[in-house]
Amino acid sequence: MSEQNYNPYKNAQAQFDKVAEMLDLEAGTRELLRQPMQEAHFTIPVKMDDGSTKVFNAYRIKHNDSRGPAKGGIRFHPNETVDTVRALSMWMTWKCAVVDIPLGGGKGGVICDPRTLSKGEQERLCRGYVRRIHAQLGPNLDVAAPDVMTNSQHMLWMLDEYETIAGGRYPGMITGKPVGMGGSLGRTEATGYGVIYCLQECLNKLNMDIKNTTVSMQGFGNVAEYAARMYIELGGKLVAISRTDRTTGTTCTIKRESGCDVDELKQLKTADGGIDREKAKELGYEILPGDAWISQDVDILIPAALENQITPEVLPMISSKVKVICEAANGPTTPDCDDLIRERNIFLIPDFLCNAGGVTCSYFEQVQCNTNYFWDKDEVLSKLEHNMKNAFQSVYELAQEENLSMRDAAYVIAIKRVVNAVELRGWV
Ligand code: GLU
Repeated sequence: MSEQNYNPYKNAQAQFDKVAEMLDLEAGTRELLRQPMQEAHFTIPVKMDDGSTKVFNAYRIKHNDSRGPAKGGIRFHPNETVDTVRALSMWMTWKCAVVDIPLGGGKGGVICDPRTLSKGEQERLCRGYVRRIHAQLGPNLDVAAPDVMTNSQHMLWMLDEYETIAGGRYPGMITGKPVGMGGSLGRTEATGYGVIYCLQECLNKLNMDIKNTTVSMQGFGNVAEYAARMYIELGGKLVAISRTDRTTGTTCTIKRESGCDVDELKQLKTADGGIDREKAKELGYEILPGDAWISQDVDILIPAALENQITPEVLPMISSKVKVICEAANGPTTPDCDDLIRERNIFLIPDFLCNAGGVTCSYFEQVQCNTNYFWDKDEVLSKLEHNMKNAFQSVYELAQEENLSMRDAAYVIAIKRVVNAVELRGWV
């Protein structure tokens, strides 16, 4: 898919500008909100196991903290760019606002491929990240979390480095920590489950029974895995998934008409992000080209990989059977597709609503850390379900009342909340 022509930051700004115009926002307010408030660009020298030093480029970007401390993940990716991090930080602001949690938006990134780093090198990279910008991080300033290719162990190393420097215990400094070390039960599942809570609401509105639906998915990382688990448990049939081997860049879709099994799919994952094709064939999966996930005759498409995957170029490949697109990834659809998707009567659940389950659970993690009282998993998940379904309902109602797309309606709600905060603070 042609991602090169699309810059996620420009996409995020185009989405914002459209709604800012619709809301007739003041010029100063627009200028404040269409770019990050603060950016840290820095290098992290890491002593490698062979005795050499490698220098990694890293970012932490705060888009807006008017509603609360900045919040958002840190991703490790060889193709990370400053503009991707800028876009992701903006989307975090809208994400926290649309689900109405008292947090702002931020994001971090390190240009690296963690799969080529030993455990010790990864630990030194995480600690180095915090050492370089610890003064800008903290429970009341900017709270990081896992994202693409980062996990709970990375978060704990970062926390430990922060606490060592600060000389105390600050468990609310970071979320997505291991359970038992300040992490919340349900955090691992939260983003994927949140996608399906939104899908359930959407199918209710469309009078569709989840048991009679089929899904094709792009990606099979953490978000996709738990979305798939819940969807299949609810009776849906996942027929295809695609994955990209990050080393060779080759993508492949595997398909089984009778339905995919999540535990089997996990076994088929190769360390490089690809799929073990031979084993897949043995288990009765068809091997198809990488972009075949998008052209399947299914009811629901779930892009759960990276940005800029649904472009006007690939849009015609989407089957006329598709009724719903759940944007589990951040920014999977380019802005020039939105009208075309609407014209085709496809119900799109926009990314910053659809995948807000992760940050919502991160917020619950902070609440639990602050009170030093941890909830059981059912309590976490029932609160998550309640928040996600409420947020979906508000966006849906506004979309109906004002004849807006779901994306524009979500933006209207989120932007209005942030505008209200910056106005109340007297920033504009
Ligand atoms: N990285 C996740 C996201 O993009 C979660 C962020 C968080 O929990 O702060 O929403």
